[in-house]
Amino acid sequence: MTSATTTCPGCGLEMPASDLVYDRKFHASAQCWSVFEEVLATEYQNSVLFGQVHQLTVDAYAVQHAGGAHPDKSVSIHLLGLYLVLERGVAPMQVPPLLQRRAEAASWPHLEPPEERAALTVFDVGMAGSPQEHARLVQEWASQVWRAWAPHHGAAARLAAGLLDG
Ligand SMILES: [Zn+2]
Repeated sequence: MTSATTTCPGCGLEMPASDLVYDRKFHASAQCWSVFEEVLATEYQNSVLFGQVHQLTVDAYAVQHAGGAHPDKSVSIHLLGLYLVLERGVAPMQVPPLLQRRAEAASWPHLEPPEERAALTVFDVGMAGSPQEHARLVQEWASQVWRAWAPHHGAAARLAAGLLDG
């Protein structure tokens, strides 16, 4: 008997192997992606939670799963999302239209994923026992991912240039 596991190439999450199929652009294992989908489902079912942290969840997950076939545009846009909320205090619900405006840009930097990894993953959020704990864990997870991406904080600030000027 073997107990095979898979390791997510993005966040390092280890999960039991299974026959899940994965065909998305993020640099993730099928098992990690399925946890992400469960977390999203939880947020869609709770409007308060959705407003508080949904954008952070998506941005943290995307940035933590840079690399592989994940397009530069997607990584940059989601890193910009983390920057706007965590560094500039933009409310998560106000982030999507700002990202939409920036998404029309023609070229994107290639941001090599840093060596350092956030300790928290979407799995930790998925284990939350209450909406309050869910929100707290997303905040902490997103902050860890943002700190791990310190080599690219300047790039994020450049992507935000002009967006918050009114
Ligand atoms: Zn992962």
